[in-house]
Amino acid sequence: MTLKVEDLHAGYVADIDILRGLTLEARKGQLTTVIGANGAGKSTLLKCVAGQLRAHSGSIVYQGRDISDLRINQLARNGIAYIAQRRNVFPQLSVRENLEMGAWIFRRDRARVAKAIERAYAAAPILREFRDRRAGEMSGGQQRILEVERALLTDPKLLLVDEPTVGLDPKMAAAIYRHLRGLCGDGGRSILMVDQNVIAGIGVADYIYVLELGANKLEGTKAEFDSKYRDTIAEWLF
Ligand code: ATP
Repeated sequence: MTLKVEDLHAGYVADIDILRGLTLEARKGQLTTVIGANGAGKSTLLKCVAGQLRAHSGSIVYQGRDISDLRINQLARNGIAYIAQRRNVFPQLSVRENLEMGAWIFRRDRARVAKAIERAYAAAPILREFRDRRAGEMSGGQQRILEVERALLTDPKLLLVDEPTVGLDPKMAAAIYRHLRGLCGDGGRSILMVDQNVIAGIGVADYIYVLELGANKLEGTKAEFDSKYRDTIAEWLF
């Protein structure tokens, strides 16, 4: 078990819960997708796990340790990285400089930074191609790849990803999902992804949770969603 969220209540003002007793697990080496309608609380969940929002109650345990009070840089040191929904590259900086920002927590170890950046270039050759150009010159999908590879510079074991393909064309979206899929299992790396894209979100996942109004509605393996929940999913889509 990698991450366990239990009975989480959270919101943006005191006494009003957007998340109402949410419970889930992101298992080691797996891609876990959380889907749900607009406003169901998917981003709120990730913000809580990523230390951006303090929960009202409940627990967030990673590798046996309660992490609900940790901030993002402490989470990075504990092997957790977060890719937010809104684009977050520095458009005026070069691709290389953007990657260097991802290695901030070990910036004094130049050899380690260089090695990590080389690994990113090998995983995503487009970044090597654009390394001396401003990140803002890349397409939306290429910037998303940059964000993913920048998040990987610290070699996280758990990647939190919020709606990775919003605004991308289907071909680029498929490339991003493939890229994320390829990261799982590798050395036990896990992904907890929230997505509004039901078909793709299920298609890429090992395990799926469905949220409704900040609470658990349905969960199961991809095989279960492909077989016994097929009709339920079809109902949501039409
Ligand atoms: P979406 O796919 O639209 O991002 P979501 O499932 O991720 O939906 P959240 O972004 O978690 O949903 O939002 C859940 C609820 O919390 C919504 O009603 C939203 O209006 C509210 N909310 C989100 N962010 C804030 C904020 N910063 N302050 C106050 N309310 C917020």
